[in-house]
Amino acid sequence: MMTGSTHNFLVVDAHVHFSPDKADLAAEVMEANHLSRMVNVGALEALGIPFEEGMRAFRKALGDRMVYFPTPDFSDISPGFGERMAEDLERKVEAGAHGLKIFKELGLRHKDADDNLIPVDDPRLDPLWAKAGELGVPVLIHTADPVAFFQPLDENNERREELQAHPDWYFGGPEFPDHDTLLAQRNRVIERHPDTTFIGAHLGNYPENLAYVDACLDRYPNFYVDTAARIGEIGRHSAEEARAFFIKHQDRVIFGTDLVIGWDVFYDRAGEDMTELNRFYEAHWRFFETDEQQIEYPEFPVQGQWKVDAINLPDEVLEKLYVRNAQRLILGL
Ligand SMILES: [Zn+2]
Repeated sequence: MMTGSTHNFLVVDAHVHFSPDKADLAAEVMEANHLSRMVNVGALEALGIPFEEGMRAFRKALGDRMVYFPTPDFSDISPGFGERMAEDLERKVEAGAHGLKIFKELGLRHKDADDNLIPVDDPRLDPLWAKAGELGVPVLIHTADPVAFFQPLDENNERREELQAHPDWYFGGPEFPDHDTLLAQRNRVIERHPDTTFIGAHLGNYPENLAYVDACLDRYPNFYVDTAARIGEIGRHSAEEARAFFIKHQDRVIFGTDLVIGWDVFYDRAGEDMTELNRFYEAHWRFFETDEQQIEYPEFPVQGQWKVDAINLPDEVLEKLYVRNAQRLILGL
């Protein structure tokens, strides 16, 4: 049984969520788990904390150990919303933001003034994507969700229990676009904005299909993916297949966990218990750095009852995954 990581450099966790009042706990987590920086995304807007006030509190507690990606305000959808979101992003980057976060509600729930869903590739959002490129900040974009959340909710749905506990995560109804449609919308945005860097959260939201993600990475040089909350899916492929994916795309995959500290807007994945928080990171190191078979993935058993096979990445690939790729894409890391 592994205790601690085998790597000898500090790690960037490029996808976490916590509010300013949990910043001290975040600092403790970083110290205990060999992390140099965290990229905190969308927390202030989701919790209704004014940007300047939140950033001041973050800076006071964490200095430069945390960078922040704000998310746009989709409640203001009167004409010109894309331009206004672009201006807002520019203002926030000037005031210390380092990227843009897009939650899955884009494509699934956000509606325009005519009560129609705003597709991910809605041209009215083009000014926002273009502005991110112009400012040189990446867009961390979450589009769609696990495939099971779009499939019939019957006894064959392997995440039935999770969906019964969180009915609002189910997107199988006729009011929602399907998984493929959503990813196609996202891909059109990536294609249309070659000068903007997009990081597809959750392994581009198709860890179930590594061949698909592989093809997207081949096709779009401005596309990257993170590993957040998907070790359970990545590890269901054979270790050989998953390892080959991470080695082939070693410059394009970014380590992130989707750690949520003390906040249940989604669900409190690791809670506030240090033992649990440390176990959560330990499970990541074990997956990427050993060749153990049939081990528990970090969120086990929330996402399902299966086990995963660890993929034992070479040191130089680990270093890119854990720190170099994020440093290259996100100024200020
Ligand atoms: Zn997240």
